Amino acid sequence: MPKVQETVLEIDLKALKHNFEYLKSKLASQTKFLAVVKAFAYGSDAATIARYLQDLKVDYFAVAYSNEGIALRKAGITTPILVLHPQAVSFKALIDYNLEPSLYSFKILQEFIDIASAENQKHYPVHIKFNTGLNRLGFNKDDVKTVLSTLKKKTSVKVESLFSHLAASEDLEEKTFTINQINAFKSIANEFTEALGYRPMLHMTNTSGILNYPEAHFDMVRSGIGLYGYGNSVEENKNFKPVASLKTIISQIHHIKKGESVGYNRAFKSESIIKTATLPIGHADGIGRQYGQGKGYVFIKNQKAPIVGNVCMDMIMVDVTTIECQEGDEVVVFGNTHSAEAFAETANTISYEIVTAISQRVKRIFI
Ligand SMILES: *Cc1c(COP(=O)(O)O)cnc(C)c1O
Repeated sequence: MPKVQETVLEIDLKALKHNFEYLKSKLASQTKFLAVVKAFAYGSDAATIARYLQDLKVDYFAVAYSNEGIALRKAGITTPILVLHPQAVSFKALIDYNLEPSLYSFKILQEFIDIASAENQKHYPVHIKFNTGLNRLGFNKDDVKTVLSTLKKKTSVKVESLFSHLAASEDLEEKTFTINQINAFKSIANEFTEALGYRPMLHMTNTSGILNYPEAHFDMVRSGIGLYGYGNSVEENKNFKPVASLKTIISQIHHIKKGESVGYNRAFKSESIIKTATLPIGHADGIGRQYGQGKGYVFIKNQKAPIVGNVCMDMIMVDVTTIECQEGDEVVVFGNTHSAEAFAETANTISYEIVTAISQRVKRIFI
C-alpha cells in the first residue's frame, strides 16, 4: 500500500466481497440478500459499492431517502431499490426512477396510492412496514385490516414485501423481547398474507439479526454494517474485514514548552515539554469535538497518539512526544488494524456513527 499524502478514506472492495460472502454463508441458499447502502454506503461511496455488489448479484438495495436512490439509478444501478423512509414530496420522482417505497403510515400509504394512480401505474411494487416494538416507523398489528381494505380496492400498487425491524438484535440480554418481535411479525404476516391472496416477501433482520436470529431470516435479510466490516460483537468482528480506512499525514511538528497551551481556547496547557503533530483533519471531516481533549487517538508508526486540546474545523493536534516521527509521515485514524469501533468507543459512540460521519470533503480512494 503506497503511503498517503493527504487525508483519504481508503475503500477496500476485496474486504467488501469477503464480508458479503461471509454473511451469505449464514443464509439458506434461497434467502435473498438486501444490501443497505444508505448514507453514502455508510460513509464510503454508494455508487462504487452498489456497482460492485450488483456485479456480485445482490438481490436488492435499500437507501433511506429517495434522493439516495435517484443517485444510484443515475450511477447505472438497475437492481431493485427499496427506499426505507420516503416522504410524499418525493413520490413522483421515486416512480420516475423506478424506486420502491416503504409505506409505513396511513397518510403515506394514501398519498402514494393517489400519486401512483394519477401516474397510471399498475401493480407498482411497494413494501409495507410494520412496527413490532422499535416504535419508530410502521403500522401496528391493529392496523392490518384497514391497510388491507385500503390496498384491496387498488390495482395501482402491489405488495412486494412485508417487513419489520428489530430493536435490539445485537443485545442477547434482550433475547425475549426480540423473540416476541419475531413472533409478532409472523402473526401479522400470516394474517396479512391470507387476506391478500398472494404471498409477498417477508424480511426482518439487520446484520446482527442475521448473525443472532437465523429463525428470522424469512425470505430476505438486510445488511448494512456487516458489509462494511463490523459484526456488532467482539467475537463476530473477527469474521469481518473493515472496508474503510481513514488515513492522513503529519503536516507540522511542534515542540511545546512547559506552561504553553495548544489549540483554541487554550484547552490544553502543557505541564512538561512535549512534542505535538498537527494533522489536516478536523470536525468538518467528521472527527467531532467529542474526540478532543485526550479522548480519541490516532496511530503513527503503530503507536497511539492522543488528540491534544480541542478538535478544530480542519485540524487536530496529537501528542507524539514518545513517537519518532517526521512531517509527512502517515497517520491512521482507523482501519483494518485499528477499528472504527474502537475509535468510536473513545467518545462513547458506535462504529455506525463514525463511519457515516466522514464528510464528502475527504477524498475516497479504492483499492
Ligand atoms: C439501516 C437499516 C438496516 C441495516 O442495519 P445494519 O445494522 O447496519 O445491518 C436494516 N434495516 C433497516 C430498516 C435499516 O434502517
